[in-house]
Amino acid sequence: MGGYNGSMPQPAPVLARLRNFGICAHIDAGKTTVSERILFYTGKEHAMGEVHEGSAKMDYLPEEQERGITITAAATTIGWRDHVLNLIDTPGHVDFTAEVERSLRVLDGAVVVFDAVSGVEAQSETVWRQADRYRVPRLCFINKMDRGGADFDAAVASIRQRLGASVAVVARPLGRGDSFEGVMDLVSRELVRFTGDQGRTVTRSALPDALVEEAELHRGELVEALADHDDALAERYLAGADIGPEELRAALRRATLATRLFPVLCGAALRNVGVQMLLDGVVDWLPSPLDVAEVQGQDPADPARQRPVRPDPSAPLCALVFKILTDAHGDLTFVRVYAGTLQQGQGLWNPRLAKHERAMRLLRMHANEREPVEQAGPGEIVALVGPRLSATGDTLCDKAQPLVLEPIRFPPPVISMAIEPRTNADRDRLHEALARLAREDPTFVTSQHEETGQTIISGMGELHLEVLKNRLVRDFGIEANVGAPRVSYRQTVRGRAEATHRFERLVAGKPQQAEVRLAVEALPGGGGLEVLSSVPAGALEARYVAAALEGARFAVQGGLGFPMVDLRVTLAGGRAHETESSEMAFQAAAGEAFRQAAEQAGLVLLEPVMRFEVSTPNDFVGPVTADLVRRGALLEGDDLRGDLRLIRGSVPLARMFGYSTAVRSLTQGRAGYSMEPAGYAPAPPEVAAQLLMS
Ligand code: GDP
Ligand code: MG
Repeated sequence: MGGYNGSMPQPAPVLARLRNFGICAHIDAGKTTVSERILFYTGKEHAMGEVHEGSAKMDYLPEEQERGITITAAATTIGWRDHVLNLIDTPGHVDFTAEVERSLRVLDGAVVVFDAVSGVEAQSETVWRQADRYRVPRLCFINKMDRGGADFDAAVASIRQRLGASVAVVARPLGRGDSFEGVMDLVSRELVRFTGDQGRTVTRSALPDALVEEAELHRGELVEALADHDDALAERYLAGADIGPEELRAALRRATLATRLFPVLCGAALRNVGVQMLLDGVVDWLPSPLDVAEVQGQDPADPARQRPVRPDPSAPLCALVFKILTDAHGDLTFVRVYAGTLQQGQGLWNPRLAKHERAMRLLRMHANEREPVEQAGPGEIVALVGPRLSATGDTLCDKAQPLVLEPIRFPPPVISMAIEPRTNADRDRLHEALARLAREDPTFVTSQHEETGQTIISGMGELHLEVLKNRLVRDFGIEANVGAPRVSYRQTVRGRAEATHRFERLVAGKPQQAEVRLAVEALPGGGGLEVLSSVPAGALEARYVAAALEGARFAVQGGLGFPMVDLRVTLAGGRAHETESSEMAFQAAAGEAFRQAAEQAGLVLLEPVMRFEVSTPNDFVGPVTADLVRRGALLEGDDLRGDLRLIRGSVPLARMFGYSTAVRSLTQGRAGYSMEPAGYAPAPPEVAAQLLMS
């Protein structure tokens, strides 16, 4: 465990000098390469003398990547200048969008890596939109400037157009492709070269005369862009003052923190060019935990009561579990502390489970080393050994002052398959392993099929379930067979309808009756489920209203064959009998009234729809498009990107099983694609007819 000496003092990072950041990218843009270089230049890899092993470790077959994350990259602590940086892993594949979502919750800033040939691609766009939603300040890094066809200005233009982002170009490439040799730092007016052992030596020199004019032109554009967003700078600029590097950096920091501008840097990670400037950018422009908006906590007893959670080390503890890793040494629970100070050995309270946990050990994770620490304050990210029950998204706090942070939102799974162990002896172990995997990954759900008793696993896509199945073998030694994938259907109603049901029955020899009137209506997509009452006060005894609502809620959750979404049930009225009514009768009457109203309104079967982007060489556009149309895709447009054609659209997930094999054989393996859930749409009548009959 490194050379750590337990009695050494462990200075806590000063909050203003802490950066929690992640790197996001479309697959193949160079995230792994950039991360490796970062670990190398920040010294940890080198100090351990394991550069080679380190780079192997960050390699990335999907499940290998998951594996790599296990040890190194869920959160890796590094040092740069006099700052502490936590590099938080954000997975590249869209099947793991939920992972991106949860890392965005705990990071304060992000670096988005683009390929200088392709510019903005589907996944970088998805992540960008998610980051917009959380208002995460970002830097852009145009990577692969050494590639033939690299075009810095076109890549920047694609960021402006496709992402609608205002950018501040702070560095420009000197040359491109084979002749790419360094970076012009527009802020400091210097030429930056990277030499020596794997580019470790950064040489800065004044711009040669031949470049000054061009650089000043671009620097002028940078100052102008900033002046649009920064009054202090605008005033000086309009007065004709020369804006010095420090002043420019400070204004850039303000604009970046406010997500008004996104600084753009460039380089070629593989050629060891530009990565140190990117690290400088992280320190100079990305937020510290003090710079980000206050998070809100809820009182678990009364969710309406919100309390701001301030990064105060002496406040009651409040920490968010953002990742759980099962590994050979036991489970690691990754938390970000939002308030208070987490101490080794401290008892923790999980309000969701109403259970105690204990932080037996606190670890700071470096690339090749786990460093035990005794405490962790606000803004810090540590791995805990000890908690056994807490799941991703849970809050850990002080029992005396319980607090829940807004849970991380995860989309519901869209695909399921049956799973069974190859040998009967593994049955119990399989269930235990699935439960552990579900604790790690909130988008992975296991359930029991009601009729067949089969175990069903559900997730975000074929690849997602494939990775989990492989982990069963690798981490738990369980071989399992899986059935054919099946999409998760949902149901909603068309329009609105009202129904009245009168329940009348002998229950255990006693007559029971109740009458309930309610309305069911469709909500727009994403509207969720609502059950409420419009019964005028005094028209019906409160306990009967409550019972009817309970009955309606129960019926909605049970669904009518499929889980229901996007509808509202309004309890409109009811009648009680003087002596023969009961809460149970009202529950039953409401359930039946709901069924009648829903059927009257018209049931609609919904199927998951995916947004896709296929990139294919021009020669194959015809067959690829024809195949997509045959699968029921709606094409939304296409673009030329270098020598590739990008085809975008949406398609029912049910028609895309096995697509990776199909598109490979259509294009001699030369096309790539990505998909992500894009909500639900009515299933075609023949699918509905078949499913509703069976
Ligand atoms: P990731 O999928 O985003 O993690 O991308 P990787 O870091 O694995 O890189 C994908 C491929 O691009 C690999 O073959 C890298 O060697 C290559 N690559 C990464 N950075 C550069 C670069 O700066 N220039 C060139 N030419 N290739 C690069
Ligand atoms: Mg990678």
